[in-house]
Amino acid sequence: MTTQKPVKTSYDVVVVGGGPAGTTFAHLMKNKGHDVLLVERARHPRFSIGESLLPATMPIWQELGLHQKFEEAGFIRKYGAYFDFHDGDAPEYFHFPDAVLSKSPYSYEVPRAEFDKVLWDAALDAGVHALDKTAVRKFEVEGQRVTGVTVRTEDGEEKTIHARLVADCSGRASLLGRQLGIREKDEALDKVALFTHYRNATRSSGDDEGTIAIIGAPFGWMWLIPFAGDQVSVGAVVHNELFSQWKKDGWTREQMWDEIISTTPTISCRVQRAERSRDIETLANFSYRCKQLAGDGWVLIGDAGAFLDPVFSSGVHLAMSGAKLASRAAHRSLRKGRLPRTADFRGYQRRVRSALNVFSKFIYAWYDPNFRASFMRPPHHLKGVGHLKRHIIAVLAGDVFQAWRVLPPIGFLLLAARMRSRTATPELPAPGQSDAGASPA
Ligand SMILES: Cc1cc2nc3c(=O)[nH]c(=O)nc-3n(C[C@H](O)[C@H](O)[C@H](O)COP(=O)(O)OP(=O)(O)OC[C@H]3O[C@@H](n4cnc5c(N)ncnc54)[C@H](O)[C@@H]3O)c2cc1C
Repeated sequence: MTTQKPVKTSYDVVVVGGGPAGTTFAHLMKNKGHDVLLVERARHPRFSIGESLLPATMPIWQELGLHQKFEEAGFIRKYGAYFDFHDGDAPEYFHFPDAVLSKSPYSYEVPRAEFDKVLWDAALDAGVHALDKTAVRKFEVEGQRVTGVTVRTEDGEEKTIHARLVADCSGRASLLGRQLGIREKDEALDKVALFTHYRNATRSSGDDEGTIAIIGAPFGWMWLIPFAGDQVSVGAVVHNELFSQWKKDGWTREQMWDEIISTTPTISCRVQRAERSRDIETLANFSYRCKQLAGDGWVLIGDAGAFLDPVFSSGVHLAMSGAKLASRAAHRSLRKGRLPRTADFRGYQRRVRSALNVFSKFIYAWYDPNFRASFMRPPHHLKGVGHLKRHIIAVLAGDVFQAWRVLPPIGFLLLAARMRSRTATPELPAPGQSDAGASPA
C-alpha cells in the first residue's frame, strides 16, 4: 500500500493516471527538479492490457534505471514478431536485430500488472508525490487555461488542487479530451477486442520463446504473447460488425471465443492442451484521436491523446516516448518561471502526430489484403532504398519518431500494395463523430 503524504493545494505539475505515460512523465519531471503530484484511480498492481513492448523504448528505460529492474523482475525478452495470415503463404519472422537504426535488439513481454507497478514504484522512489485510490473528477478551467483538478480521495473527500501544468495521462478514459470535446473516434477502425490468459500453452524455444505471434483471420486478427513462466496472453481484435452480429444472435463471450479459436489453427494448436487462467474480457471503441494534444496549462500524453489499433504493439512505446518529449517541452517552459502555453508544446504535438501517422499507415494497410504480400515478402533491394524488410522491422521495433528515416522506403512498400490492388489505400484517420469511449463491450 502507498503511504499517502498530506496533499498540498498547489504543485508545479499534476499528472492524472499512473500507467506508463503518467509514471514516466511524473518521474522525468521530478528528475528535472519540479514538484509533481501523480494521481491514480486504482492501486497497483492492477490488471491492464497491452503486454508486448517495443525495443525503441529502451533508451527511456535505461535513462530511468528501469531496464535493470525489468531484468530483475525476470520479464522475458522479445526478439521479434511472427506474422501469419493463414492465406496459404508461409508465415514470416521479423527479428529486431535485423532492423535498420536498431536501438536495441530486444524488448520484453510483460504482465502489465507487474510492469506498471515497477514504473509506479520507480516514480515514487524518485520523489514523486503519489495518491492512489484517488479519482480525478474534473479539470479546473479558467478562461482558456486549465489550472488544476478536483479529485475524490479513497475516503470520499473532494479536493481541488492547482498546478502550473496538468498532464492528462488517464489512458482510454481520455478525461480531458472528453471534457474539452476534442476526442474523435476513428470510424474506419471500429473493432472490439476479446482477450484472456492461458497456462501451459505450447511455446517456441530459444530466442523465439518471447516472440509475439500475430495471426490474420477473416474476423480480424489474433495475438499470442508469451510471458516468463507458464502463462501466455491470447487475444483477438474483431470487426465490430461481426461482433455485433454475434451479440444479436445471442452468443455468449465463451461461444465467441470458441468460434475465434476454432477458426485460427495456429493459435488453437498452441492452446488446445492449456488451461485458461482469466475470464474472457472485452473492450470496444478503442481507436480515436484528440484534435489537439496540448493547450494553455495542459498536455495529453499516451492513450489520453490518441489510441491506435494495437496490431503493431505501439501503445506503451507511444505513451513513454510521448512522456519523454512532453517532459522536455514542459521543463523548458516551467524553468523560465512561465505558465506553459499551447505554443510551448508545438514541437511535441508535431512529433507525436508524425509518429502516430507512421503507425497509422501500417495499420490501415494491415487491413488491406493487398498489403499482405508486400509486407510479408518485400522486394529485397530497391535502388537507393536498401533492404526493405530491415526498414519494416525498424517500424515494428518502434523507430517512428524520425519518420523521415523510415517513411521513404515504407512509401515504396505501400505503393507496391496500392499497385497490386489498383485501388487507393485509405487515407489517414478522418475526423469522425465524438465517441462514447473505450468501454467494455
Ligand atoms: C486490446 C488491446 C491490446 C493492446 N496491446 C498492446 C501491446 O501489445 N503493446 C502495447 O504497447 N500496447 C498495447 N495496447 C495499448 C496499451 O494498453 C496502451 O497504449 C498503454 O497502456 C497506454 O498507456 P497510458 O499510460 O497512456 O494509459 P493506461 O495504461 O491506460 O493508464 C491510464 C491510467 O489512468 C488511470 N485513470 C483513469 N481514469 C482516471 C481518473 N479519473 N483518475 C485517476 N486515474 C485515472 C487508470 O486507472 C490507469 O492506471 C493494447 C490495447 C488494447 C485495447
